[in-house]
Amino acid sequence: MVIVFSVITISCKNKEKQPHTNNVTPTKTVAADSLSFVKKQQEKKAIALKKKEIQRLKIQQSKRKALDTLPLTTFVDLSELSDHFVFDLKYATQDNFLKQSVYDCPKCYVRVPTAKALLKANSVFMKKGRRIKFFDCYRPHSVQKKMWKIFPNPHYLARPSKGSIHNKGGAVDMTLVDKAGNELDMGTGFDHFGEEAHHAYTYLPDEALENRKYLRETMKKHGFWTIRTEWWHYNYRGASKNTLADFKWKCE
Ligand SMILES: [Zn+2]
Repeated sequence: MVIVFSVITISCKNKEKQPHTNNVTPTKTVAADSLSFVKKQQEKKAIALKKKEIQRLKIQQSKRKALDTLPLTTFVDLSELSDHFVFDLKYATQDNFLKQSVYDCPKCYVRVPTAKALLKANSVFMKKGRRIKFFDCYRPHSVQKKMWKIFPNPHYLARPSKGSIHNKGGAVDMTLVDKAGNELDMGTGFDHFGEEAHHAYTYLPDEALENRKYLRETMKKHGFWTIRTEWWHYNYRGASKNTLADFKWKCE
C-alpha cells in the first residue's frame, strides 16, 4: 500500500513540474487566427458594399436613361436620378416662413421634362465647381391648401384655386453651393419676402449680383424662367399648362 501511494504522489508531482510552454504558443496562434478572420470579414464587407454601390449607380443610370421613355406627366424623385444634387427641403422642417413642417418627409419630385432640364443644368454648374441645392420642388395641391390656411397671403403664396407651378411639378426653389457645400451669396436667404429678393434689386454686393446673374442665365439656357420677386424660384417652360396634381410620395 505504501508503495502504491508513493507512486501516485510522484506521478502528481511530475505533472505539476511540466513546463507551461504548450499554453503560450496556442494562445498566440488563436489570436492571430481571429485577427485574420476579422480582417477577412472586413474585406468581405467592403467588397459587398462596393458591389452594392456599383449596383445603385447602375440603377441610377438606367433610371436617367428611362426618362426618355416615360410619359411627360410622370413624377420622378431627383435623388434617385443623381447624387450630384443637394437637398435642403425647408417645408419638411420648421425652418420656413410658416414656422412648421407641411410635408410628412422631405422629397424632391418633379415631372419628367423638368427633371431632364435640371440634370443638364446641374452638369453645366458642376463644370464650374457648383451644384444645385433644392429648397422645394413639386408640392401637392393639398399641401398648397394647407399652407394657404396657415398663411393666406397672395404676396407670399399662390392661391390654391389657381395653384402654383410647384403643384404642377414644373417649379423648383433652389440656389447654388460650392464644392464644400457652402451656399453662394445670393444677397438674401430663401423665402426672404422683401424687395432685396427681387431680380431687379441691385443694392447688393457685386458677388451676390454676379451669383444671381450666373444662376439666372444658366437656368434660362436650360428652359427655365423666373418670377420678378423671388431669386430662388424657377419655372420650367410649358409647365404652367400642366394640370394641378395631388400625387403624394411615400415616406419610409
Ligand atoms: Zn417657388
